[in-house]
Amino acid sequence: MNKPVILVVEDDAPVRNLMSTTLKTHDYKYLTAPNGREAVMLTSSHNPDVIFLDLGLPDMDGVEVIRQIRSWSNVPIIVISARSEDDDKITALDAGADDYLTKPFSVEELLARLRVTIRRLSMMNADSSFDNSVYVNGNLKIDFPAGCAFLNGEELRLTPIEFRLLCLLARNTGKVLTHTYITQNIWGRSWDNDIASLRVFMATLRKKLEPGPDSPEFIQTHVGIGYRMLKSE
Ligand code: CA
Repeated sequence: MNKPVILVVEDDAPVRNLMSTTLKTHDYKYLTAPNGREAVMLTSSHNPDVIFLDLGLPDMDGVEVIRQIRSWSNVPIIVISARSEDDDKITALDAGADDYLTKPFSVEELLARLRVTIRRLSMMNADSSFDNSVYVNGNLKIDFPAGCAFLNGEELRLTPIEFRLLCLLARNTGKVLTHTYITQNIWGRSWDNDIASLRVFMATLRKKLEPGPDSPEFIQTHVGIGYRMLKSE
């Protein structure tokens, strides 16, 4: 990938300046927008590679910005929200945001999120025939067409639901998937019961997958939000 172009959408000028200075210092190209309308315009005119989107904008709801952009673009969107806007953050992820940062955040967090997102992008670009392929992540291998998964070369004994969960997380490596998103994909609906079942299935899947319960190598929990498949180093 050439130097990625990052769009920063933030109405708070000091935060916007901090973000753009950080990006500049780390040799990223960037654009900025102080409101939702300009964000949508710049996205269609400049086709950025990643968008940082503040949810609390003066002219329109950040979630509405995501919906508009998602109607034509799959550009990764990392939402930025205040701690009090936890529900908005989940709505944003369900509307198609890829990841989130909670204010106040450090420059290191900002850069780490960006690196994860760019890595996922280049992985997707490198393998456009993902569905018919074999997925490899560290010691984990998933043979999608054969419907089986291997850890350290040994086949994992997964139930059909566990296998579907693993595939869903793997296809979205690096991306936070909300409970609602996962249950809707696995069961086609999202009731409280389904979210409770999801916890149980995730626990059994992780027991089969992770070396130690306290040191997840593959599946990261985002408390109250969902799960993310990590890229194993
Ligand atoms: Ca704001």
